[in-house]
Amino acid sequence: MISVFITIRILDIIDILLVAVLLYQVYRLIKGTVAINIFAGIFAVYLFWLVVKALNMEMLSSILGQVIGVGVIALIIVFQQEIRRFLLIIGTRYLSRSSFTLENLFSLNIKTDSGVKIDDIVKACENMAGSKTGALIVIARKSELSTIAEGGDILNAETTSRLLESIFLKDSPLHDGAVIIIGDRIHAARCVLPTTENIYLPAKFGTRHRAALGVSEKTDALVIVVSEETGAISIAKSGNIKSALKPSELKEFLESEI
Ligand code: ATP
Ligand code: MG
Repeated sequence: MISVFITIRILDIIDILLVAVLLYQVYRLIKGTVAINIFAGIFAVYLFWLVVKALNMEMLSSILGQVIGVGVIALIIVFQQEIRRFLLIIGTRYLSRSSFTLENLFSLNIKTDSGVKIDDIVKACENMAGSKTGALIVIARKSELSTIAEGGDILNAETTSRLLESIFLKDSPLHDGAVIIIGDRIHAARCVLPTTENIYLPAKFGTRHRAALGVSEKTDALVIVVSEETGAISIAKSGNIKSALKPSELKEFLESEI
């Protein structure tokens, strides 16, 4: 008589859950990028190798075996960008700009006053949308944005709607690029943001919207875009973008997120 005993320990369940979370995070990270095609390619080679091995085709299986053998190193090289982004997300989620706190560790939603002047930002966006003045505003949360800010001009000025509007005036020397807001200050202007690698975006999203998405993928910042072409207000967060927001919706969104 054959009896099969399967004992499942709590640790096994935790193990399975952790693998599921890890796979989901990897999927989220590479969804919509070219990396998912590369991943599918590697998986196809692996499947082919399994078939070749099962059919005992010695030469082909040893060649493919060699390729799979150095696969880990190849994976690190091919997915260098994605691995960087993954580590960055983990790092910035748990090590906030200020300190390593219990609040961050358990993602508790205890709100502290960030000082961000939401009313001024919304008013400036409403006015710029009305006059079809293009704008790109990054509102920092926990992620460190200093590398991006250093590429621009540091202002460290109090946030007012008038200053924001002046920066983005078409003839202003500061109007190109993004403004970074940290707390109640306009920290920098004319900053160049990393653009998204998402290849499935609709063509209506030009470089300004792609830059907004890019920085929202790599950090936890909120990014507001005012379109120069249409005057539409959009907001990007965690690699997603919501378009055609009314000023009241923008205000509500910022109040719930900051
Ligand atoms: P719009 O709807 O306003 O036309 P768009 O998404 O079509 O926006 P473009 O027309 O290409 O984008 O906007 C160009 C402007 O976007 C540039 O003048 C610059 O100010 C800004 N911009 C483009 N790329 C970046 C970037 N990587 N970082 C910061 N700002 C950028
Ligand atoms: Mg455009």
